[in-house]
Amino acid sequence: MARAVAARPDLLERLAVQTAERAQAQLQRRLHTIDASHRPYVEVGGQRLLAFCTNDYLGLAQDPRLIAALKKAADTCGVGSGSAHLICGHHREHAALEEALAEWTGRERALLFSTGHMANLGVIQALLQRDDLCVQDKLNHACLLDGAQLAGAVLKRYPHADANAAARPLQRAANSYALLATDGVFSMDGDIAPLQALATLCASERASLMVDDAHGLGVLGHDGAGSVMEAGLTERDVPILMATLGKALGCGGAFVAGSATLIDGLTQFARTYVYTTAMPPALAAAAHCAVTLARSENWRREKLNALIQRFRFGAKQLGLPLMPSRTAIQPLMLGDAQRAVDTSRALEAQGLLAVAIRPPTVPHGQARLRITLSANHEESHVDRLLQALESLRLADASV
Ligand SMILES: *Cc1c(COP(=O)(O)O)cnc(C)c1O
Repeated sequence: MARAVAARPDLLERLAVQTAERAQAQLQRRLHTIDASHRPYVEVGGQRLLAFCTNDYLGLAQDPRLIAALKKAADTCGVGSGSAHLICGHHREHAALEEALAEWTGRERALLFSTGHMANLGVIQALLQRDDLCVQDKLNHACLLDGAQLAGAVLKRYPHADANAAARPLQRAANSYALLATDGVFSMDGDIAPLQALATLCASERASLMVDDAHGLGVLGHDGAGSVMEAGLTERDVPILMATLGKALGCGGAFVAGSATLIDGLTQFARTYVYTTAMPPALAAAAHCAVTLARSENWRREKLNALIQRFRFGAKQLGLPLMPSRTAIQPLMLGDAQRAVDTSRALEAQGLLAVAIRPPTVPHGQARLRITLSANHEESHVDRLLQALESLRLADASV
């Protein structure tokens, strides 16, 4: 019997409508293709731009020693890992990197993931089951929120950095399994989570605390071990630590560190670990080199911190709408999305690259210029940025 199928709506048509709506709202994202990179400069479409938007906070991504480590490992083990870790893709380079990461972060073990996004999906989905409680900061990275949804957990988001508010959902569901997850350093704001208060809360409520330290590792704490170490917290306080290798370490990939119980469990149950190709072993070798440099070359953190101070001092003098942050992420709050885009374009015309961050990445009315600093910037670069910002008279119209 013939059935009418014409009534079914078309998926790609709906997607096209959504894309058009985003463009109409002037919120379309724009791709920059980088032709060449000589950090902190990048070449885009024949133009050389001084970039203030990479997450290469320690300036390691183009370090000759990392490049040499990658090449050397590629010579012996090739480019691709060959398979998933649990089949035959786990090379000695991966094992050595996991050991180095566990030691650095003061944890029993570590487990590599191909990206931070996958690490967060995998951990949360392995730990939480349907109807378990997942308490998260409102400004957590998108993939932490996605992880809770993937697990089918009851997701409760508390107002940014408000540990008292985080207590309420835990107290209301005292008999549920519960995970509290927070960014260590917030990716679009640059401020640091109230880790001690959250750890105290989790201890008293018997909830497990997870910290995503994508922007803290390498930058904060003694020898760059991250925000958790800086807060004086241990594996007991924060049993689940996640961080990425693609930011301060200048490579790519991510890891989760914690007890043998955690890592053994993730190895069995984290689907984004089990069912994916292991990261290239040469990348693991480069990341291992980056860990050694990040730990030993304290001057990178010192230089970065001096640049942060210089930028903040200058921006305050100019009355720029600086957000409160002592990390490498130094956003300027511009409010209106179009204003953020216009500012970014005006900087580009002056040879500077700083990208506008708009909704839905940040809340409506809180569009900003996400300026990031790196140990491979010089004082003169920061001064050039300040001069350019001054010329745009942002202070006059600031909120
Ligand atoms: C970048 C980032 C991630 C994702 O890591 P990738 O390796 O880029 O997938 C996760 N969490 C936070 C807080 C991040 O900033």
